[in-house]
Amino acid sequence: MSKIQMKTPLVEIDGDEMTRVLWPIIKEKLLAPFVDLNTEYYDLGLKKRDDSDDQITIDAANAIKKYGVGVKNATITPNAKRLEEYGLKKQWKSPNGTIRAMLDGTVFRKPIMVNNIKPAVRSWEKPITVGRHAYGDVYRNAEFKAPKGGKAEVICTAEDGKIVCCETIMDFEGEGIVQGIHNTKESISSFAKACFEYALDQKVDCWFATKDTISKTYDAMFMETFQEVFDSEYKEKFEKAGIIYFYTLIDDVIARMMKSKGGMLWACKNYDGDVMSDMVASAFGSLAMMSSVLVSPHGYFEYEAAHGTVQKHYYKHQNGEPTSTNAVALIFAWTGALRKRGELDGIQELSDFAGKLENTVLSTIEDGLMTGDLAAICDPAAKKVLNSIEFLDEIASRMN
Ligand code: NAP
Ligand code: MG
Repeated sequence: MSKIQMKTPLVEIDGDEMTRVLWPIIKEKLLAPFVDLNTEYYDLGLKKRDDSDDQITIDAANAIKKYGVGVKNATITPNAKRLEEYGLKKQWKSPNGTIRAMLDGTVFRKPIMVNNIKPAVRSWEKPITVGRHAYGDVYRNAEFKAPKGGKAEVICTAEDGKIVCCETIMDFEGEGIVQGIHNTKESISSFAKACFEYALDQKVDCWFATKDTISKTYDAMFMETFQEVFDSEYKEKFEKAGIIYFYTLIDDVIARMMKSKGGMLWACKNYDGDVMSDMVASAFGSLAMMSSVLVSPHGYFEYEAAHGTVQKHYYKHQNGEPTSTNAVALIFAWTGALRKRGELDGIQELSDFAGKLENTVLSTIEDGLMTGDLAAICDPAAKKVLNSIEFLDEIASRMN
């Protein structure tokens, strides 16, 4: 059997710990036998980031800008403990944050569904993808405690220093709290574009909600910007694709979501996305069954698993013990990236291969063969609980 040939290189970004252990095994067992892999490899393992003063992360993001598509392994975001563990020069920033900022991207998380793991919400038949606006609002706030009898005001000055707006927030009788938040038209507009691009790419409806009835300027700018971007750039494309853009209030969208069949992109403001993505993820089953893609409004895509480096399992692995780490989201990161590469380069075989591998993974689980995390929640009960490597071997033997 001749292997599928690729044209443009895929940007391959490696990471840390347990996911770093599984990465080459996935390539060796599930990809390389079928595809003549053409990747440009960037090692974002923590030591390499430290050695290069994090330049390697910037190089990897630039490579995605050059080639358009990347696949990324999970990476450690160092904290004080990691600094010591790895003897680092400093606590480097989150690589995901750096790459996201350089690509101006939005992260979309989509659950991977199988018929023997039932969502906690009975009506959900199709995956709900959450797109979270990752800039501003309460995540970049200024906040204070106000003293008894204090007066809090909000002031905005123009470039020339003149006060353009000034409003009293509160005259406090007793103690209180105050918070100032912001967002930018540019960031909201990029977010809207990334959402509409994703909806078109996946051929799913896009739902968006704010509280514009209460927040008549702040949230209203989100609502208006989405509508402007939609009307000027996406209305016709959506009609052609047979999908819709639906806007409503945030409380209304929650009520509708719980009764829906799923199958839409849910665009969320920053805080809504933080909260709702965790709710959706846990309602669909397992972190190991959650795929994630960073979409930039400039047409760059980076695929990854939503989970981290699975540190606890890595320490077991280092002790020579078998692990129950589930590689499904990592495999789907690869298939997502290969499918996109196939689409962009016009290589139908490559996109078809991605679909075949995904179906093989799903049918393995649906036949009752799975890792421990899924065995704990599946119905009917698992036929056989496999460790990390046995599960990959089972998929490989089915592919062959
Ligand atoms: P984690 O890697 O997401 O794992 C947390 C727990 O979730 C695991 O201990 C395990 O539970 C379960 N789990 C996650 N993925 C699993 C999988 N594929 N198969 C089976 N179980 C899975 O989070 P963490 O251990 O708290 O974080 C480790 C490192 O990852 C941190 O240094 C953090 O900075 C990094 N991180 C990176 C990314 C990224 O690069 N995208 C995202 C998040 C975190 P049990 O122990 O109960 O089996
Ligand atoms: Mg959260």
